[in-house]
This record gives sequence, C-alpha cells and structure tokens, in this order.
Amino acid sequence: MEEQVAYFSMEVAIDPRIPTYSGGLGVLAGDNLRSCADLHVPIMGLTLLSRKGYFFQKLDSEGNQMEEPTNWPIDIMDLLPVKISLPLNSREVAVQPWKYIVKGVNHEVPIFLLDTDLEENDPGDRELTSYLYGGDDRYRLSQEAILGIGGVKILKAMGYKPTRYHINEGHAALSIIEVFKELNDLSEVNKRFVFTTHTPVPAGHDRFPKNLVEEVLRGYLNEEEIDKLCQDELNMTALALENSHYVNGVAKRHGEISRDMFPGYQIDSITNGVHHVFWASKPFRELYDAHMPDWRNNPFSLRYAVSLPSKEIFQAHMKAKKELIDFVNRSKNTGMDYDVFTIGFARRFTRYKRPYLLFTDIERLRRMKIQIVLAGKAHPKDNEGKGEIKNVFKSINDLYPEVKAVFLENYDLNLAKLITSGSDLWVNTPQIPNEASGTSGMKSALNGVPSLSVLDGWWLEGNIENITGWSIGEVSHSEDTKDANDMYDKLERAILPMFYEDRDNWIRIMRHTIALNGSFFNSHRMVQQYVLRAYF
Ligand SMILES: *Cc1c(COP(=O)(O)O)cnc(C)c1O
Repeated sequence: MEEQVAYFSMEVAIDPRIPTYSGGLGVLAGDNLRSCADLHVPIMGLTLLSRKGYFFQKLDSEGNQMEEPTNWPIDIMDLLPVKISLPLNSREVAVQPWKYIVKGVNHEVPIFLLDTDLEENDPGDRELTSYLYGGDDRYRLSQEAILGIGGVKILKAMGYKPTRYHINEGHAALSIIEVFKELNDLSEVNKRFVFTTHTPVPAGHDRFPKNLVEEVLRGYLNEEEIDKLCQDELNMTALALENSHYVNGVAKRHGEISRDMFPGYQIDSITNGVHHVFWASKPFRELYDAHMPDWRNNPFSLRYAVSLPSKEIFQAHMKAKKELIDFVNRSKNTGMDYDVFTIGFARRFTRYKRPYLLFTDIERLRRMKIQIVLAGKAHPKDNEGKGEIKNVFKSINDLYPEVKAVFLENYDLNLAKLITSGSDLWVNTPQIPNEASGTSGMKSALNGVPSLSVLDGWWLEGNIENITGWSIGEVSHSEDTKDANDMYDKLERAILPMFYEDRDNWIRIMRHTIALNGSFFNSHRMVQQYVLRAYF
C-alpha cells in the first residue's frame, strides 16, 4: 500500500495572496507543507476556504482596531468537480473543494480548501466557510465538522486512501469519527492518527457543550454515539489524544508542559521550524547562494555560515533593513534612519504576549538610540488584546520625538518577511510558560537577526547567551517589573554598545545566529522528524 498523509489544519498560510490564517499555527502549517513539497513527502493539506479570510486590520489614530472582510482572488485556485454532503444542524450541507498546489523543488503537494458557498445550500450554511475563527460556538463546531468529517469524505470521494491523518491542533479531531465509521476498529484508527497540540493556554483547546453537539451533529451521529463521544461536553483535545498513536508538543518545554497538562498520555516533542528559502530575504538568499549553494536543498549547510565574510553579512543586512525602513517611511512618514538600531516586535496581540513590557519605562527608553517597528492583529473578540494595541499607540506618542516608533497595519506574511529580516533585533516577551514555541524569532535568525527574548518556547533551545542573542528574566517564571528591567539593562549595557561601538562583535552574533539557529530551526529538519517518528 502506498503511504500517504492527510494533513488537517483549520488555517494554512499558503501564499501571501491567500489570507486564510490568523498567526503562528497557520504559518507553521504552510511552512510544513512547503518543506514536504521540497522533500518529496507524500502528503496533502486539508483546510477551509475561509472565503472572507481572517480579517483585514485597519487602525485609527488611537489604535482602535477595525476589522474588514478580506477580498482575495479565489480563482487563482481550481474548483474541483467533486461534492460531498454531510448533515449539520439538521440540514444537508454540500461541500466542494478548491485545489491549490504547493510547488516544491521537484515535487508538488496539493491543498484542498473546503467551500460550502454552493447554490444548493441554505443561505446560512453558505457562510460556514467564510470567516476563519468567526461567529459563535455553533458556527465554530459546524466549521470543525466540515473540516474533520467533510475533509475525510472529500478525500474518499476523490479516491485518496490516506494511511496517516495528521491533525494540526484539535480543530480537526472529528475526522477521527469519520475514519472510525469507515474502519470500525479503534486500534486501526489509532495507528493512523498523529496529533500535534499547539498551546498551553486553556482557551486554545476547544470544548463544546453536549446539547450543542446534539443539535449540530444529530443526523450524523445517533444518541448512543453522542453519549460515547461526550459526557457533558465534547473536548477536541481529549478526542485527539485518546485516538492518536503519536502525539507531540512543538518545543521541548512545551512537550513537558503538555505531559503535565494531560497526564497518562505519551507526548513527545518536535520543535517547530520555518521554511528557510521562504523566510530568507532576497539579499540573504543571494549571499547564501554565493557561498553555500547547497543551502536550498539542505538547510543544515547553513552551519557553514561561520565562514561568511563579515562585510558581506552586514551588507546583506543593510539591504534588508533598507527595504523595511523605506517601507515604514513611505507608508507612515516616520523619517526613520538606516543607521539607527531598529527593534522589531510583531505577533498576534493578546495579553500573554505582553506587548506592554517593552514600554514599561518610557523615560528610560527615550534615552536609548533606537527606533521600533511593531505590528500585529488582535482577535476580533479579544478586547484585552485590542486594548494592548491602544496602549502601544499611546506609548508610541509618548516616545516621540526622541524615539521613533511605528505600528504597521494588517500584519501578514509579507509584513512578517519585511520586519523579521529588516530589524536589527527581534524582541519577544511572552508570559512563561504560555509560548508553546514561537516562530518569528526563527525567521529573523535565518536573516542573521538575533533575538532578545524571554526563556520560553523555542528560545530555551535557541539561546546561547551573547552568541545567538540574549535572554530576558528567569527560566522558571515571568515577573513584569523584573523582566522589563532585565531587558533594559541588556539593551543599555550589552546590546546597544556592541551594535554602535563594536561592530565586528555584532556581526559575530549575526553569523552565529545563522549558523547555529538558521541551520536547525527550519521546517526541513522538523518535517524529517515527523516523517521518522510519526508518519512512516
Ligand atoms: C510567523 C508569524 C506569526 C507567528 O509569530 P510568533 O512569534 O510565533 O508569535 C504570526 N503571524 C504572522 C503573519 C507570521 O508570519
């Protein structure tokens, strides 16, 4: 039997033109499939079409976030002549897939994006694949049923016979039920499923009340099956844990935390990675091509960055930095300077990421010779996260004119490329232990940009103090005031003096960042680990 993996993810950041992702989870899914395409892994992706995307972010002058539906060119993909239907909320809902091809070096991976906006569907059901993470619990459970159950049915209708199902976060766990209906053998189901959990934050684990499950899935499941599935609620993580032969967290520390959260399950860890060619800026791609042409097929050879000439590393960086500063000045009229030390901070805006930490002491920051570029979206229902954006806007005003800082709207793949490669330092300040992995610092590492980060997620593995960057605070826990002071101390005493007065040493850090972290925290290494430990 030919091996084939079906990879289910509620969000996939496939292409900068396709805004069907909200953050790290989707970017990881995209990078994973890009590496699979390069490495000849027989896999296909399943996700929802999310016709109106996550949302397009606009910000007013006070930092109030307004969310607009995104318009994106769906017809860059092909609508396939296959339909299935499943009963949801006591109606039949037809589902049809679109196909997008991820082109690797010499292999291709298809992604199927499921769509319910079909004439035969009830008007409400036509909206079920419109908004990523939109709507209420019923909307969300319906979406998860379309992805999980609909996804398995679609694959079958197209003639695929996957030997493995990889569920990227619990959203697609209902696929287990559909596969069980087919095989009618729990141990066979178990052998086929691989589950990756992505967050220690409880709100990231979906649970649905039993009465809602009854309303949405009646017609698909009978009463007895519903009773078996949930006592008083349906817990997607529990369903996935219970029925997968391989479960992993996304960094070593996250594996440990997940084992504590879910005692009794064997949980491994595979540390996340990012796609090296996708995330390296053009100047760095050219630099690597010139000195280690093998790096595209074999990112491990980035370790030879130890012998890259200093001058060329810094020249490549200044080109990438110029792109960013020009973009900032063009779009925000900020008058930023190529030669001023530039801090990058961009990620989802939500309380645990502590975006306020950088701005704890405005007076102290004002005395530093720096400029700051920020970006990030808050989930439409995350009022705290939206408040964080407003607070940052206020800090940006307070810093002016001594320190120029800017918040760029609508953080997406393109902006992420620009900011992670064009900053001099990547700052990351989440509350321990909430950052499962974090991946944006890996993107900057591929561009020779070191991190100043809390010791959580991947940075526990990536930080070699004063060699690949710097740590903030303690390993065990976070404390706002202490962490902020530590961060400022390192900036004032180590980082800024090295950047301005000891450039050779600064470039040494850049070189080690590439050689030690770029060579390891990439999705080729990650996919190889999934293949060896989980897939085949
Ligand atoms: C990489 C990326 C993220 C994830 O960044 P983290 O550091 O893991 O929070 C989120 N959004 C976009 C657009 C990205 O490119």
